[in-house]
Amino acid sequence: MNNYGINIWSDKNFIIKNGEVKLNYKSKPSLLQISKEVRESGIKGPLLLRFPHLIKKQIQRLYSNFNSAIDENNYKGSFGAVFPLKVNQFPHAVESIVNQGKKFSYGLEAGSKTELLLAMSNANSNSKITVNGFKDKEMITLGFIACSSGHNITLIIEGLNELNTIIDVANETKLKVPHIGIRVRLHSIGSGSWAKSGGMDSKFGLTSTEIIEAISILKNNSFMDKFSMIHFHIGSQMNDIAPLKKALREAGNIYAELKKMGASSLNNINIGGGLAVEYNQHSHACTHNYSIEEFSSSVVFLLGEIMDTKNVQHPNIYTESGRFIAASHGVLIVPVLELFSQDYHEKLLNLKDNNPPLIKELLELNKLLDKKTSIEYLHDALDHQESLFTLFDLGYIDLQDRSNAEILVHNIIKKVLYFCGYENSKELEQLQTRLQERYLINLSIFQSLPDYWGIGQNFPVMPLNNLDKKPLRAASLCDITCDSDGEIGFSPIKPLYLHDVDLKKDEYFLGFFNIGAYQETLGMNHNLFSRPNEYTIDINENGYIVKNIVESKSILNILNDMGYDKNKILNKLKTDILNSDFIQKQEKTDTLAKLKVYLEQNSYLRTTN
Ligand SMILES: *Cc1c(COP(=O)(O)O)cnc(C)c1O
Repeated sequence: MNNYGINIWSDKNFIIKNGEVKLNYKSKPSLLQISKEVRESGIKGPLLLRFPHLIKKQIQRLYSNFNSAIDENNYKGSFGAVFPLKVNQFPHAVESIVNQGKKFSYGLEAGSKTELLLAMSNANSNSKITVNGFKDKEMITLGFIACSSGHNITLIIEGLNELNTIIDVANETKLKVPHIGIRVRLHSIGSGSWAKSGGMDSKFGLTSTEIIEAISILKNNSFMDKFSMIHFHIGSQMNDIAPLKKALREAGNIYAELKKMGASSLNNINIGGGLAVEYNQHSHACTHNYSIEEFSSSVVFLLGEIMDTKNVQHPNIYTESGRFIAASHGVLIVPVLELFSQDYHEKLLNLKDNNPPLIKELLELNKLLDKKTSIEYLHDALDHQESLFTLFDLGYIDLQDRSNAEILVHNIIKKVLYFCGYENSKELEQLQTRLQERYLINLSIFQSLPDYWGIGQNFPVMPLNNLDKKPLRAASLCDITCDSDGEIGFSPIKPLYLHDVDLKKDEYFLGFFNIGAYQETLGMNHNLFSRPNEYTIDINENGYIVKNIVESKSILNILNDMGYDKNKILNKLKTDILNSDFIQKQEKTDTLAKLKVYLEQNSYLRTTN
């Protein structure tokens, strides 16, 4: 049986039971059941499901691991965290994050004016808001306004000009001055795809010389009491903990030096984000070499050690990990619309009264093949196929014969694979790849899995049911955009096998997991597909509640949001129909009504699934 690596990537959030994927929480509902229920109202296309209990779990894990590490190491500072909004700014994700984080005073991180506004209007009271990224005078003034309205806000400067602007705004207004942080430019660099967030050539942070200059500016303007945090971020999805330790040593020593230079209010070190998420579903070797336990205890231990050596008080530790918090809460459910190889179905055989001898032989092989004879008959069939192709090229058999040959050989290979499985030999593996089934999925990869398109990020994927049956079709997944990049091809190194289903009889859904971080805002409207229908699922002891329904945009509204006037579009279509000589008078009202219905629906396909 294939468990699709659920024990590697799912962190026990999902289990397989009675052939279905289920949430491993309270009433343990099945994803198929939830999906079918929300589709009862006639919803078509992909579904985005949010599970707030998984956000709660991750926030608790983060805090409890750091707090235990603090206890165990007799560390004197405290632990705190903020959620970087860029990871997921959507209302129902942010709402869960803020609500579940309330008891920890979990804060928010903003990297732009818009995110700052979002943080100001959503943050838990008493929680920290950190502001990173490049800032103009307006953004800095927004920070002052936030501070004066009661927020605990830290403007983390990326350059000396930002510090000078802070001083200007303080002098020009009577608003309360926020805390000031400095992003330090480390020579340590991270690992993984986003390593360039750190290092001397990173676009972020102050060099040692600039830090010294910043301290003198702060001192000369009597702002030292506002300087309370240093910050670094060495990159997302860190796969190795060694670079982080190196960065911690470097940043820890900068912190200790700054304390010695008289930064008496400095008491926080913000280690950025980067905690990795497991996306791998194939080998038991994880893509990152540390656990949250190791991560938290390394950070706490190292910082304690550096401060003790330099005789400096332990700083409070802040993190900005976002992927770790948000990835698991999002699951994308995708209906399969079609299996392309139905073109080779046995029922499509169109035999003649008198078939060429090799076709007759293929018919015999197909009929008699069993487990014992399978490999031998397979070789015979492949041989015959070659000969039949040659005969066709030389004009001895016709297209109908060739079609019959293709169907028969396809079926023979399929039977062999059923008998022998796919683990057994190189030859079968190769055949498997050759006999790939292409599954058409009601999804836009550009809209819903942009990191697959952009950086080749694989997301764990599996069918929601049939998990008590062995999947034998080597699968490639084609989305409904008309872009050839909208395909997750079969990879022999990371093979995906799916079931041979008859979609006329049964629905078949795939789930993509760990999609709750970054995918939603990065997603694009290529081919004008809009965001999927979205639901928040609150699971309790007896079942679950579906709430926060956000429907995928209608076709008309997609165009309207692009800047077209939807009334103008409607009027134009209406006039064209009314003036058309090709639609009969009595059919015009019907046609208009039909058109209206179509335009109010979302852009995904509406065939059975
Ligand atoms: C993107 C970013 C983060 C979040 O990184 P994750 O890998 O999602 O944890 C944290 N801090 C800063 C400054 C960032 O730019």
